[in-house]
Amino acid sequence: MNTILHKTIKILSRYPLCDRCLGRLFAELGRGLDNSERGRSLKIVALMHLHDLMRKGELSIDDMSSICGNMGPEYEPLCSALGIKDVSYNKCHICGGNLEELIHRYSKEVAELVLREKVRRFLIGVKSLKEISKREREIAEEFGIDTWESVKSELKRVIGKHVRDVTGAQPDFEEPEAIFIIDVDKGITVERPSILILADYIKLGRGISQMPWVTKEGGRKYPLSVYDACSKLASVYNGSDIVIHAAGREDVDVRMLGTGRSLVIEIRQPRRRDVDLKLVEHVLNEYTKWLRFKVYTYVRREIVRRIKESGRTSYKIYRALVVVSKRIEMDDMERLEKFFHNREIVQRTPRRILRRKKDVVRIRKVFEVKTRKLSEHVFVALIRCEGGLYVKELVDGDGGRTAPSFAEVLGSPSYCAELDVLYVHKQI
Ligand SMILES: [Zn+2]
Repeated sequence: MNTILHKTIKILSRYPLCDRCLGRLFAELGRGLDNSERGRSLKIVALMHLHDLMRKGELSIDDMSSICGNMGPEYEPLCSALGIKDVSYNKCHICGGNLEELIHRYSKEVAELVLREKVRRFLIGVKSLKEISKREREIAEEFGIDTWESVKSELKRVIGKHVRDVTGAQPDFEEPEAIFIIDVDKGITVERPSILILADYIKLGRGISQMPWVTKEGGRKYPLSVYDACSKLASVYNGSDIVIHAAGREDVDVRMLGTGRSLVIEIRQPRRRDVDLKLVEHVLNEYTKWLRFKVYTYVRREIVRRIKESGRTSYKIYRALVVVSKRIEMDDMERLEKFFHNREIVQRTPRRILRRKKDVVRIRKVFEVKTRKLSEHVFVALIRCEGGLYVKELVDGDGGRTAPSFAEVLGSPSYCAELDVLYVHKQI
């Protein structure tokens, strides 16, 4: 015989277990029951069965007494009614009799936090129950039980249900506003998942960095940055700080025009979430007239990776103002356009950024170049190329580190005086 009842009696003959820890071993059996109900029901049926055996003389008082002791002190009245006296009642082998108190305490604490912080969607996490988890797994294995639920899963579920009933807030696995992590040793920590906003920025002026550029003296090399504009959102959402994830980056002295560059603004640890995106756009655009933002929508984390990837892979169109040492002839322009048609460019890391980046060789394609001569030494070039091409070096050749280059094809030193990004191809 290996029924639930027999398993229960076998387990209780060897280990003291509270209702909840016994019930949890059979958590997959029966629906709509709490594990403590399961445990109590099993113990009562076991008591009835053992009483029957005792009456038939098939169970000694001593054996009955030791099983009663393993049921726990709250079974004292039931056992003593059967004439089983002077039993020494033991604490639960798995939880030490602490589980009910833990559930009660943390349910109350989390519910208070939910109400205080006005959280509407929450999630419960549980940490550091190693010893309890280990003991329950050992018992499940010892008795060949495959219907058990882990104590972590039970705590999350039971506390979550209690918090929902008390506060009206809903457990939400997909998009919780707050995650309450219960650490039995250290207490509760609250994590508020970041808010992620998809936007574009246009940079109308030069001398604006994407991230603040702090000098050795602690000052700012450039007064404005894209990050500084976005950081205004930390207070709007009552968050701790912000991170920006952009689809690539233009140089400080390069304007970002046209359709702008995509970025995801991440607000960390926000205490507010339901902010109208029109207000967000307004706040971003208030920072300076030199940066214009367009805000689209709230997005999920996976968009961050796609944004970053698209910065590396998507093609761009640049406008370069090129100054050439020699006098420009008309056929120079024709030659240049013809030469840089689907042309592969081999570039070693530009000298100007060698201090920050490793010296590597990069191959990028120029798809097309269109030019217009402005004066004897100046022309404008529209350059459509792969993402990641160093355009200034495409023009001047960077002392031979970029080849081929405009300077090389024109046979004269050339220099990129101004550069604008006109278009970043968006793949999101
Ligand atoms: Zn227990």
